[in-house]
This record gives sequence, C-alpha cells and structure tokens, in this order.
Amino acid sequence: DYGLSEADPEVRAIIDKEKNRQFRSLELIASENFTSRAVMEAVGSCLTNKYSEGLPGKRYYGGNEYIDELEILCQERALAAFNLDGSKWGVNVQPLSGSPANFEVYTAILSPHDRIMGLDLPHGGHLSHGFMTAKRRVSGTSIYFESMPYRLDESTGLVDYDMLEKTAILFRPKLIIAGASAYPRDFDYPRMRKIADAVGAFLMMDMAHISGLVSASVVANPFEFCDIVTTTTHKSLRGPRGGMIFFKKDPVNGVDLESAINNAVFPGLQGGPHNHTIGGLAVCLKHAKSPEFKAYQNKVVSNCRALASRLMELGYELVSGGSDNHLVLVDLRDKSALVPGGIRIGSPAMTTRGFGEDEFIQVADFIHEGVQITLEAKKSATGSKLQEFMKFVTSPGFPLMDRVLD
Ligand code: PLP
Repeated sequence: DYGLSEADPEVRAIIDKEKNRQFRSLELIASENFTSRAVMEAVGSCLTNKYSEGLPGKRYYGGNEYIDELEILCQERALAAFNLDGSKWGVNVQPLSGSPANFEVYTAILSPHDRIMGLDLPHGGHLSHGFMTAKRRVSGTSIYFESMPYRLDESTGLVDYDMLEKTAILFRPKLIIAGASAYPRDFDYPRMRKIADAVGAFLMMDMAHISGLVSASVVANPFEFCDIVTTTTHKSLRGPRGGMIFFKKDPVNGVDLESAINNAVFPGLQGGPHNHTIGGLAVCLKHAKSPEFKAYQNKVVSNCRALASRLMELGYELVSGGSDNHLVLVDLRDKSALVPGGIRIGSPAMTTRGFGEDEFIQVADFIHEGVQITLEAKKSATGSKLQEFMKFVTSPGFPLMDRVLD
C-alpha cells in the first residue's frame, strides 16, 4: 500500500501545482473557500469505501453501524448549526452538491411541467433555478419544468418584488425560489412568503452562497419564512463539496416534505451517499458552532464592506449601491471597453487566509489599476506591486497561513 507520491507521482505533481496555484493566488471567487485540514482529513478517509444506500437504521447494505452514527451526528449538527428545532425541521445531508439538492427538491414536490419562478440567471440567479434563453432550455430545471424567472429592478439593483407579485398572480407557480449566485443584498423573505401564500406556492430558499453567514446570524434568517432551504456546503460555510436540504416537518400544501424529499434523494436521483463528504461536513458543522466561526463570518462581511467602500471611493458603481453580505458586483458597463460588463468579487476565501480590511482595500486598489490598464492599455507598476503584496500575504508569519492548504 503506497502513498500517493509513490503510487502516482503524476497526480501528486498535479495536486502540488494546484496547491501552489491556490497558495499564490488572490482568491476572490465568491463561491470558493479554503476548508480546514480536519475536514480534508475526514474527506480523505476510509469513509469513502462504504456503500450505505438508504437512511440511518434503514440501509440496503450491512456493516453500516458507524456510518449510521456518523450521518445522525451530521444531521444533528446541521440542525444545531442553523439553530433549528428538530421537532419542526429535518435535514437530508446526502445531496452530492448544490444543483442535485435543488433538483431533488423539485422532484419531491413538483410534477413534470409544473410552474416555477426563480431569479433570472443574468440578474444573479443560478442555472438550477430554471434558466432558459429565448432559444434554449438550458438546465434540467427548465427542461422538465415551466420556468418564468423574476428579475431585478435595474434602477435599484434590488429584486423587483412588485413585478414578482404581479407575475406570480398571473403565472400561478407551484414553487417560488429565493436565493442567488450573485446578489449582494438580503432577500425580503416576509414579502416572498406573502406572495407565495397568495398563489398557494411553496417557498424555497437556496442559501448556497450565504449559508455560513446565515449560520452565524450575520444576515437575515430564511428559516423563519421558507418551507424548504437548500445549500451547498463548500462556499461561505467552508465545508467539503456537498449539499444539504432542510425541510419543515409539518406537511406543507398537503405534502409530507420529509418523506417526499428523502425519497427524491434516494432512490429518486442518487444511489450511495458519499460518506467521506458527510464525515467532512460533520466536522465543518461542529466548527460552525464555535465563536471563531462567528468571528470569521463577521469578518467576511466587514471585509466585504471595506472592499465595497474603497471601490466606491475609486468611482465604481456597485450593483444595489453596496453589499450586506460576502460579495460585491462592480458594474463596469459605463467603462465601454470592458467585456464582460461587470465583476463579482467575494471575501470568504481571503478572509480565511487572514485578510483584514487593510488587505481588502489594497485588493480594491489592484482591481482599480487592472481596470485602468485595460482601459488605457498602458503599462503600470501593478505587476511588481502585486508580486510584493503576494509575497507578504504568503509569508509564514501572516495570520492563519499555517492552518490552510494542507
Ligand atoms: N445554488 C447556488 C445559489 C449557487 O451559487 C450554486 C453554485 O455556485 C449552486 C446552487 C450549485 O452548486 P454546485 O456547483 O455544488 O452544484
């Protein structure tokens, strides 16, 4: 039994190159993060060897006594991480990722061709919320269901709830989806609940981007108003790649969500759970209850605000005029030489790497210089200044550098 270096030096070398790339880059992709060494240890463990189709106590394979213990622990920690009462809320921790989790919900509560409304992709929504173009139904969600996306009010950059309401009354969707991949503000859950109730729709929140912030109570809480909440586990929550579905235990619109969702996950759309991921997720969810995690999430938000303020000082328009969460959307449409017309910048990953507000202000300055270079197509010192900055933030004394990127 060899370790990776001996068994497959080629893959080892690729991993090393990727590790170096991650270490040397300023990671500003809003959906990415650096998970902990402890999570990676669980993900790289023998848990990957086990088949366990079914749920704890109801498996289709033998030898699952410890896997049951693990999945129950993970479920308990998931409910605790979001301060949920286990008599009112349940959770399925088996979804393989965010898109499958969403499709599992649709499979559970909709019939083919039922109508849904999610935020349009060009306005910040996710593919799995029903994106389609005039020519093509792009995702499985728009292929199997009838989708009528809602949009932003382009003058404010905020969800146009009036239009959502008017359209919902005409379109009569069975499901309304809150949540986004690129939206810097809280959703107005009470308003969406009212709209959903007016048309008899389920209300689901896909909190993938902000689940860490929700767990630490630094943004609005979707659980107070939604019937179902889905999430990925690898973004602001800082866990392994995976997904979760939270559901109300009491029937909603006559549907027993618990059995419908559990059956949609397995046998509906998945086979054996990825137990190594569930192990890593349990570790992440334990961490989510710690004071350090809450401090981290507060820093994600304050860093993002510092970045936003600096960008605005530098004369940039931000969609919605700022940010309440972990990301900013810089509107570059007036800088006509630039394609695409905007950038999404997130603070979770570099906050994990120990960045504070000063470093994020510096990041804003680099972005500004980059934009200037592109616009003016002239040489600048950004290259060497950026290299110097990277040398500083990757030095051993820089906060938390020794705790990430095993
Ligand atoms: N939902 C939202 C809001 C997302 O932003 C994403 C991914 O970025 C997903 C779902 C999909 O997650 P995955 O890539 O794990 O399928």
